[in-house]
Amino acid sequence: MQTADRLTKIPPYLFMELRKKIAKAKADGVDVISLAIGDPVEPTPDSIIDELCRTARDPENHRYPTDEEKGMLAFRREVARWYETRYGVALDPATEILGLIGSKEGCHHFVMARINPGDIVLMTDPGYPAYRASILMGGGVPYNVPIRPENDYLPVFEEIPPEIREKARGMFLNYPNNPTGACATRGFFDRLVVFAKANDIAVCYDNPYSEVVFEGQERLSFLSAPGAKEVGVELNSLSKPYNMTGWRIGMAAGNPELIAAISKVKENTDSGIFNAIQYAGIRALREETGNIEKMMAIYARRRGRVLETLRKIGIDFNPPKGTFYLWVPTPKGMGSLEFTNKLFEKAAVVVAAGTAYGQYGEGFIRISLTVPDARLEEALARIEKAFAS
Ligand SMILES: *Cc1c(COP(=O)(O)O)cnc(C)c1O
Repeated sequence: MQTADRLTKIPPYLFMELRKKIAKAKADGVDVISLAIGDPVEPTPDSIIDELCRTARDPENHRYPTDEEKGMLAFRREVARWYETRYGVALDPATEILGLIGSKEGCHHFVMARINPGDIVLMTDPGYPAYRASILMGGGVPYNVPIRPENDYLPVFEEIPPEIREKARGMFLNYPNNPTGACATRGFFDRLVVFAKANDIAVCYDNPYSEVVFEGQERLSFLSAPGAKEVGVELNSLSKPYNMTGWRIGMAAGNPELIAAISKVKENTDSGIFNAIQYAGIRALREETGNIEKMMAIYARRRGRVLETLRKIGIDFNPPKGTFYLWVPTPKGMGSLEFTNKLFEKAAVVVAAGTAYGQYGEGFIRISLTVPDARLEEALARIEKAFAS
C-alpha cells in the first residue's frame, strides 16, 4: 500500500526505537529498568475516577460531547478558575479557552490552524520531537533554534537570522522544558512577546509541566506576560499534574482568533472530549491540588536520590528546577549514545540519549523520575556498582 509522502519526512518516534530495544532484552530474560519515559506510574486520584464512573452512567453523557469542538462550558469555566488561582491569569471561557484531547493534540492543531505550506516554524534544539512531526505533517518547515546551558537553555532571539524570522509564522516553546528541565522567567516572556510581535510569529507555548517545579521555583504561565494573548496560545494538560496521561484531556488558552481557528480544525477532526472525562477533569482541577503536592514530594525525593548516586560516580552538576526529568551531562569524553549504551549494557538501565532531542542534546542523557521507588532504587544501585571508580 502506498502511504502519503508527508509521513516519510517524519523521523521514527524516539520511544518506538527504545521499546524495540527493551522488548528484545526482556525476551532474552534481562530485567530491564526503563528511566526513559515520562509517564507517572502512581494512579489517578480516586475522586477523579469516582466522578468518571458516576457521570459515565448518565445516558446524557453517552451522546456527542456538549459544545462539541470547544469543550463543555463548565469545563472551560473551571480552566479559567484554575488559571486565575494558579497563575493570576484572567481568561474568558467563551472565547479564550478550548478543551483538548491532551496538549499533544493542541500542538498538531496549532500548525493546522496557523501554518501555510512553506512557512517556517521555529522550535528549540533540544526539543520535544512531536513538534517537528506536527510541523512536517502540516506542510511547514521546522527551524531549530539552539538552546544552551550557558543561556539557561533559553533561546537567544538575536541569533535567528533575519531571512528566517521573515518567513517564520509560528514558534513552539516549552518551559518547564522537556528534556532539559529549564524554566522560563518573566523577563524571557517579555522578550518573547516583543520578538513575536515584531516578526508576526504566533507562539504555541506548550506548558504541561507548569506545576512540576522544585526548590521554590515559581509556577508560571506565559499568558501572565503583558501582550501574550495578542501573540499566541498556551497549551496545558491534566496528564502530568493529575497522573492522567491515559485520559487524554488538556486545554488551549489565549488569543481568541487562534482559539477559534483551532476550534474550526477540531470541529472537522474529532467531536470533542467524552463528557464524563470532562466532568472528571473538572473534579481534578477543582479538588485535587493535593495530588500535585503529593507527587511533587515524591519527585523531589527521587530527584535527590538520583543526584546523590550521580555524584558518587563522578557526575556533579546543578540541575534546572522544572519537570520530572533530569538532563544529565555525560562523563568526560563520552558521547550521549555511548553513555546510553553503557548504562544499558552494564546495568540494564534504559535512559534517553540527549541526541534524540536534537544535535544540541549531545553530551547529555535524560533520566525520568516517573518510575516506582523500588525500581528506581534498584536502577541506582546497579548504576553505582557498574560505574564505581
Ligand atoms: C508529555 C508532554 C506532552 C503531552 O501531553 P498530553 O497532554 O498528554 O498530550 C506535550 N508536550 C510535552 C513537552 C510533553 O512532555
